Amino acid sequence: MHPMTRMNRRITLAQRPSGMPDDTTFGTDLVEVPTLGDGEALVEVTWLSIDPTIRGWMAYDTYLPAIEIGAPIRSGGLGTVVESRNDRYPEGSTVFGMLGWQQYVVASRGLRVLPEGVPPEAALSVFGTTGLTAYFGLLDVGRPNEGDTVLVSGAAGATGSIVGQIARIKGCRVVGIAGSDDKCAWLTDELGFDAAINYRTDGVRRAIRAACPDGVDIFYDNVGGPILEAAIANLALRGRIVLCGAISQYNDAAPSPGPANLGLLISQRGRMEGFIILDYMGRAHEATADLAAWVASGQIQYRTDVTEGLESAPDALLRLFTGANTGKMMVRL
Ligand code: NDP
Repeated sequence: MHPMTRMNRRITLAQRPSGMPDDTTFGTDLVEVPTLGDGEALVEVTWLSIDPTIRGWMAYDTYLPAIEIGAPIRSGGLGTVVESRNDRYPEGSTVFGMLGWQQYVVASRGLRVLPEGVPPEAALSVFGTTGLTAYFGLLDVGRPNEGDTVLVSGAAGATGSIVGQIARIKGCRVVGIAGSDDKCAWLTDELGFDAAINYRTDGVRRAIRAACPDGVDIFYDNVGGPILEAAIANLALRGRIVLCGAISQYNDAAPSPGPANLGLLISQRGRMEGFIILDYMGRAHEATADLAAWVASGQIQYRTDVTEGLESAPDALLRLFTGANTGKMMVRL
């Protein structure tokens, strides 16, 4: 080996998971970083964005093809350009995009340079796909009107916590559903939610009815399953359900039954619509302008949950499924 050869440690997909990912899901290897060709840049990965959708990418084709066995786990992230033969990625600049669970990436396209002064935690959360997902999912798919009652599941998570705060800014009454009393207290005491429901201790259907006596105008759903069914049971006339995610089902080994009460959408003249944030990337500037103003004015707060080191990435992913995280899950390398 040449003495200057740089080695790249990677966490790879060893085996497609069935049920919760475990030690058999992930592998590690060490590969040589290739010499740069014309138009290429070498990026040292500094942060990884840990997202529930990675679980789907590991298992099957979704809106993106499944990760190949033996390839590094696909993941958004942030890195520093350490060598460059591409003018768009100058040495020393910070770039973001799909970097993967590894120390180094050679890239010629697909990354964007982070503007100066944006902290990494904000870049990967409120100004990253999380913030965009909350913004377009609520405003474009949910279409809130002032005075609407907006119910959010996964409310203390990265996306849900931003959704609720945007709904408040738009003059809505906001109720969150989360998995602990501490998370519920954060929503009501610090983020300004009007009410919060702990789905682990409260009967969710009845708790929604108590918190939303006039019904739910918009249900922004991050979790699916029984919580979705409970929300449908409380839908107001012409209510909208925004299907953002269904994390309660991502580790199901067999397909789970759908909500038993979909017929209520008919009598309530309801609308249920899914979306994928990638379709909105051309409009990202609209969201970031608003989000930047709201963060600067203190109307939006965001929290991050950071683990240290590449090796912590598998555990960080599992934290999303046990609810150990509050706010955006990320890894600092
Ligand atoms: P979060 O930060 O919200 O983390 C996931 C949270 O989900 C956990 O903190 C946990 O909180 C909750 N959760 C986990 N399992 C269950 C369960 N069985 N029942 C109820 N709640 C559960 O992650 P993100 O903000 O990154 O993602 C939120 C959702 O948005 C996901 O479903 C994700 O797939 C989706 N998403 C969709 C996008 C799109 O383009 N449509 C883009 C980005 C994200 P708790 O303690 O409350 O249980």
